[in-house]
This record gives sequence, structure tokens and C-alpha cells, in this order.
Amino acid sequence: MQSDPNVDVLIVGAGAAGLTLAVDLARRGVTFRLIDRLDGPFQGSRGKGIQPRTLEVFEDLGIVDRIAAVGSPYPTQRVYGIDGGFKDVQEFSNVPMTDAEPYGMPLLVPQFRTEAVLRDRLVELGGRVEYGVGLVSVVDDGGGIVAGVAGLEGRQTIRCQYLIGADGGRSFIRRALAVEFPGKTLGVRAIVADIEIDGLGRDVWHRFNEGDMARQISFCPLPHGDVFQLQAPIALDGDVDLSVAGVQAFIDERLPTPAIRVRAVHWASAYAMNARLAERYRVGNIFLVGDAAHIHPPTGGQGLNTSVQDAYNLGWKLAAVLAGAPETLLDTYEEERRPIAAAMLGLATGLLDKAKHGDMRRGRDVRQLDLGYRGSSLAFRTKLADGIQPGDRMPDAVLQGAAGQPRRLYDLLAGPHWTMLAAGNADEPARPGLNVVTIGREGQLLNGNGQLGLATGERRLIRPDGYVGGRFSADETDAITRYLAQVLPPHRS
Ligand SMILES: Cc1cc2nc3c(=O)[nH]c(=O)nc-3n(C[C@H](O)[C@H](O)[C@H](O)COP(=O)(O)OP(=O)(O)OC[C@H]3O[C@@H](n4cnc5c(N)ncnc54)[C@H](O)[C@@H]3O)c2cc1C
Repeated sequence: MQSDPNVDVLIVGAGAAGLTLAVDLARRGVTFRLIDRLDGPFQGSRGKGIQPRTLEVFEDLGIVDRIAAVGSPYPTQRVYGIDGGFKDVQEFSNVPMTDAEPYGMPLLVPQFRTEAVLRDRLVELGGRVEYGVGLVSVVDDGGGIVAGVAGLEGRQTIRCQYLIGADGGRSFIRRALAVEFPGKTLGVRAIVADIEIDGLGRDVWHRFNEGDMARQISFCPLPHGDVFQLQAPIALDGDVDLSVAGVQAFIDERLPTPAIRVRAVHWASAYAMNARLAERYRVGNIFLVGDAAHIHPPTGGQGLNTSVQDAYNLGWKLAAVLAGAPETLLDTYEEERRPIAAAMLGLATGLLDKAKHGDMRRGRDVRQLDLGYRGSSLAFRTKLADGIQPGDRMPDAVLQGAAGQPRRLYDLLAGPHWTMLAAGNADEPARPGLNVVTIGREGQLLNGNGQLGLATGERRLIRPDGYVGGRFSADETDAITRYLAQVLPPHRS
């Protein structure tokens, strides 16, 4: 049995949550290992809706253009009536891009492609996934966590300071810690399958028998290839034949004129829908992220997105604490992310009820742009009551640099650092991990007070994950120092 004592963080599970955390830690120079018990990458299209807020996160991680290149806008939905007629509907009302919200609409990206882009980014940053390595035991021996793993090379122990359970809905780590996972089984079972077929055009998302849970079936064309994602509710019990012949028989049974021929089934799964939320996200130095912490029906297209954003919330905090920031910073992960998941469970189950009656339409709330952390202990209680508040997502803005050139705010925020936007000239001494951007006639940005809504003399701190940490007026220099001491490693100037 070998032992590796030198890893700061062990991430278990290389799905969307584990990969996002690994990319974020890699760019921050944290040492970690990322293991997955699968022999190789997951191949299914499962979570295929990437919401605008996640696109902003992906922009910061340097992959948004690659994600867009392997995806597409959502196709129009073609809803067929029993008489064979149809009507075309846009599931999402068309939302244009704006300066403040650069990604108006979600993109359709099969999950295996999103994960492939994240894996490539991880490799660029010097990391990799260790496949075929499963976690089989966890012990916190007081001096750190000892994780037992098993794979082709036999059993090993890995000693780490922090262990991350990104190991999906059936999380081994959540069970090993005896963290309760209350909620309910929703009485809906469904199949999802990636199939090649003849007989349907690829320009729309075909939906048959909407509102009839016993006969509903839909075929969504996945971008860049021949594959459709089939989704359909099925009976709660019984075996499901997911072979080519089995899927063909299933389709024939539900369609009036069996004109569709199945050529291949690339991946298929039958699953029961649940809505559950872990009672705790943290036990000592062990954290749960993604589906390990919350599961819900796919109706809102929220699961993968929420999982990515869990990891994005935790990444900068782990890196800061490993570099010497106060350990209490890590408590804010559960404080901030658990309420988000609780609300999302309600959203997804509400949409499921509507889908049962064939009238599901996704609104602004699924895009996740209005989520934030106003009640968090990291949201500084500001005197500046007008406009954006601490805890809110910082909107993007198109500004003008000191040389007169166009500048996007998100270009300045991109990267692992904190940002201070300072109206007028800031006398803040330079310190590691904080970029100061002065705004005004003699500043680095010539304009901005209008677009950014800065008060006279305001200093605004933006967190590494793009949320406003605090708004400070000109006379609150000590408050800034105290705030930064909570979130950054100590610094002596
Ligand atoms: C039909 C369907 C449609 C969906 N549509 C959407 C959508 O449109 N938008 C959206 O946001 N979400 C959607 N989702 C949800 C989305 O797929 C999940 O929320 C997402 O995969 C969660 O990511 P994760 O990384 O937390 O977990 P997972 O993707 O489940 O990854 C967990 C990983 O951990 C590994 N693992 C498990 N146990 C161990 C162990 N002991 N040791 C080592 N490795 C281990 C597994 O092999 C796996 O690779 C959909 C889901 C379904 C089923």
C-alpha cells in the first residue's frame, strides 16, 4: 500500500463539479489530485443546458468560446397534436445580450462536450484526471484526512488536508459521513438516451404527446453531429430494454405512425426523479459539491449549472485558506450555497408539475443571473443604500480605458484575484491578490461611474467569483482593511 502525504486537496469525482474545482485550483497553484472511478470520461449528453450565469463563470475560467463552439442555441420546439398537426414554440423568450448581461440565452451543449472542454483546460493548466481510481474509505485522523482508494494499481492511501465529495447523487462520501439527504422521490421515472435515427429533421426539438405522462416522448437534436437526445417518462417499475431494438419498440409504441428508425444507441439511462438536499455541506475538512449535495428533476436545466457554481464558490475560498486566510472563510461555502440549492429544488419541481400538464416555459429565474449572497456574512453591511448591494452579482459593463480604448469590466475581473473599483484616485497600497482599478478623469478607466453606479469616493470590492463583497464610502478605510483580513492571506506592507 502506497501513501502520498503531499496533496492539499483530493477531489473525488470528475464530473462537471469536480472538473470545475480542479480547473479553478490549478490556475491558483493549489496542489490537488482529481480521481474518478470510471475507466474513462462519461459519454452521455445528460445536463445539456448551460445557463447564462455559468457562461460568465466559464468566461472567467477561459473556456466560454470553446463551450459555445461545441454547442448551439436552443432549437425551436415543435409540439405535435394527436391529429399529426403541430405548432412551433420558443421555450425561452428571446433575450438579447446587453452590456450588463453578455450572455442572454442558455446554450445547448451535451454534458460530455462540456466536460471534455473542462478536461482540456485542466491539462493546459498542468492537471489531469486519474481515471479508474475509486474512493473506498475515509478517515479523519486529526492530523488530516486519510483517503483509501482502489484502482488498477491496487489500493493506496492518499493523505490530504481537504477532501471534496464531487461524487454525484449517490455520493459515497455523503454516506460515509452519515450526512442526511432528506427530500422526496417525485413519482416520475424517465429514460434519457443519445440515439441516431432516420425519419426526423434536425432543425427543431420534436415533442410528442405533451401533457400525457404515459405517452410523452421528445427528440432534441444535439449540435454538431447525427445524435438526438431522447427523453420520455416511463412506468415507475419494471426493466427497460435500452438496446437498439428496445428503444425502437419503445418509440413505435408512443408514435401514431412509426416512421422513425433507430440506427444506434450511444448511451442510455433510466432514472427516478428525486428532490433532495444534504443537511450539511461541510463536515470538518470534507466538503460536498454538486449532485452529492443536491439532486432534483432536470426540468429547470439547473443541476449541472448549480454544480459548477458550487465549485466556483468553493475554489477561491480553499485557495485563500491554504495560503493563510482565516479558516472561517470556508464556513461561508455552505452558508452561501445551500440556500441557493434549496430554492433551485423548488424551481425544478414546480417546473416538473407544469411539464406534467404540457405547459412548461422557463423564465428568467432559470438563467441564474439574479442569484446572489446578500444575506451572507461576507456581504459587508454598507451605508450606500442605492443601487447594487453587497452579495449581488456584479454586472458587466463596457467602459473606456485611459488610452481611450474600449474595455469590458469582465476582462478586468477575469482571473483569480479580488478587484477594487475605486471612484477617484485610490491610495490603497498594493497587496497580493487584489487589483485596484481607479475610475475617473485621471484614472485607469476614464468613465464608469455612470455604468457602474459608483457613489462619490466609493471603493467597491468584487470577489474572485464576481459577486460584490462590499461597498465602502471614502471614510471607511479601516473597514476595508478589516474586511480584507477575513478573505485574504495576511500581508505586511
Ligand atoms: C436527463 C437529464 C437531463 C439533465 N439536464 C440538465 C440541464 O439541462 N442542465 C443542468 O444544469 N443539469 C442537467 N442535468 C443534471 C446534471 O447532469 C447533473 O446535475 C450533473 O451531472 C452533476 O454534476 P456532478 O459533477 O455533481 O456529478 P456527476 O456528473 O454525477 O459526477 C460524479 C462523478 O463522480 C464519480 N464517482 C462516484 N463515486 C466515486 C467514488 N467512490 N470514487 C471516485 N469517483 C466516484 C462518478 O464516476 C462521476 O464521474 C440533467 C440530468 C439528467 C439525468
